Amino acid sequence: MKLIGHENTKKIIRRFLDRNYPSYSFLFEGKDCIGKKAVALLTARAYLCEKQYGFGCGECSSCRQAQETIEDVYSEEKKERNVHPDIMLVSPEKEIKISQIRQVVQFLRLKKKKAVIIEKAEKMNTEASNALLKTLEEPPENSMLILTTSDQKKLLPTIVSRCKKIRFSPLSPEEIKQIISLRLSDEKLVKTLTVLADGSMCIPDAVAKKSQLFKYAKDLYTLLSLRELHPEGIITFAQIFDSLELEEIRIILDITEKIIYKKTLKGDVDPQLYEDFIKERKTLEKALEKGVKKKLAVEGMYFALKS
Ligand SMILES: [Zn+2]
Repeated sequence: MKLIGHENTKKIIRRFLDRNYPSYSFLFEGKDCIGKKAVALLTARAYLCEKQYGFGCGECSSCRQAQETIEDVYSEEKKERNVHPDIMLVSPEKEIKISQIRQVVQFLRLKKKKAVIIEKAEKMNTEASNALLKTLEEPPENSMLILTTSDQKKLLPTIVSRCKKIRFSPLSPEEIKQIISLRLSDEKLVKTLTVLADGSMCIPDAVAKKSQLFKYAKDLYTLLSLRELHPEGIITFAQIFDSLELEEIRIILDITEKIIYKKTLKGDVDPQLYEDFIKERKTLEKALEKGVKKKLAVEGMYFALKS
């Protein structure tokens, strides 16, 4: 894995590590899909490196195992790897439950040096948050805890105040372009996605995985920008919408919103469409959360925008 960006952020983290505190509690905060988890894994590697060199010397046995752990997290190919026994990564399914935090607490009690990363920490439910808070009040020695989040307001203020906050900046267009170019070869698409990315890899990553998402977003934009009503168009679109995952729908709406925004800036569409779209997409997302059929929800949005 090649990490692009966040050079200054890494320097700050390294300064903290140079202080050799008995324990570390970090909160990495910044937009989704910009590399917080990747930096967290590197920070864990640095903390556990036998030579205490940079973000890991890359040669000691701890660094080699940390590298296997990183590959295990990022590789599509799932195979037996010699992962680091002293790095624990906690990820939410729908939420982070107390049983997951109990495992963290137990792991942190071990005498040896160890690192725990809790990604999307804002997904901890109340019980889980309270359990973690107790550990943060008296962090065990030889331990590093890293929470990552895109929304620290959703965390308990008492958790936030007990962590060293490391703020991650969005990726620059140049960095975004470099990362996308590693994954996609279509130059025109790389250029378009760089513009739509808006500092984060969420949209480019999703499109790299499933290129139709971009086409669907363009179709939705076309339907919305046409002056006249196009019922057959929306019915066909709604059927496609019905077959998608919620996360994919979110990406389509994100892309559509960005296209409308760019077109509004250029003067190609009525500026009112941008404002109305933002409002109606919120209504649509709420409906989906409540379990309204995707097909009906998107038709609802279309007709509301067309009325
Ligand atoms: Zn090392």
